[in-house]
Amino acid sequence: MKILDGKGLSKKIRNNIKEEVKIAKKKYKRAPGLAVILVGEDKASEVYVNMKEKACLKAGINSKTYKLNKNISQNELIKHIDSLNENEEIDGILVQLPLPKHMDENLVNSQISPKKDIDGFHPVNTGKLFLGEKGFIPCTPKGIVRLIKEYDIQIKGKNVVVVGRSNIVGKPSAMLLLNENATVEICHSKTSNLKEHTLKADIIIAACGRAELIKGDMVKDNAIIIDAGTNKINGKLVGDVEYEALKDKADFITPVPGGVGPMTIAMLLENTLEAYYQNVVKSN
Ligand code: NDP
Repeated sequence: MKILDGKGLSKKIRNNIKEEVKIAKKKYKRAPGLAVILVGEDKASEVYVNMKEKACLKAGINSKTYKLNKNISQNELIKHIDSLNENEEIDGILVQLPLPKHMDENLVNSQISPKKDIDGFHPVNTGKLFLGEKGFIPCTPKGIVRLIKEYDIQIKGKNVVVVGRSNIVGKPSAMLLLNENATVEICHSKTSNLKEHTLKADIIIAACGRAELIKGDMVKDNAIIIDAGTNKINGKLVGDVEYEALKDKADFITPVPGGVGPMTIAMLLENTLEAYYQNVVKSN
């Protein structure tokens, strides 16, 4: 068994970005800018936003968090997004999910300019991913594929089973891996006999948000296991796969923490830098 070290790779990518930003700042006379919108006081969201802010700071990216009251109307939020769309110093805009219940997340995300949509949730970018065209790719799926490739694991021709079909992780992961010529199955909460599917997988992407749902006997020998899950159990972070039962059975496995999570942050910085280049090259 080999560990897919997302933490180490993330550090390497972030250091490279930091060096690139130093050079780009001199050339284009400004740093990349990221705007993060946080609505309400969800504790987990606050932690994620702080992590993103810290990572930006370290990489030399200007990050500004806009903390908005949980009772703000959807129209007011959209006005904020509009003004950030117009702001030339802002290259990327991110609305931290989940939003309060009275808001429509898809509608809010579709108000972000596709050029600044560094989370890749705008329908234009989702459509590009579907069509296999270049656009912003959601950070977690992008990080998953980058991690797999870093270890020279072949994707082409492999049977991939994605457990979870969210718009943030499951579906875009499946689409990306399909674009990489894998044969992809997507499972979800209504899948009957999940084990029957997972046992066929050369590569499993677990993104169901259910602690240790994927048990040791649900995976064939020498599979590659990517665990996106982040579940808090008695204060401890636990993935969606039963790590202890699978670590000696799998060829490669991501730890939780230290696997997919750090890659997500690295890809956020990478997408922000990409948006910045598109912006500054256009105006220079
Ligand atoms: P969602 O809750 O949006 O989606 C979960 C998906 O899993 C749904 O499609 C659901 O099916 C499916 N599912 C739930 N229970 C089962 C089950 N028993 N069997 C099969 N499928 C099931 O979660 P996200 O996609 O946002 O996140 C998934 C996990 O990844 C979470 O643990 C989350 O914390 C983590 N995450 C980690 C990130 C990182 O950076 N490391 C970033 C984003 C998420 P259905 O559609 O039928 O309801």
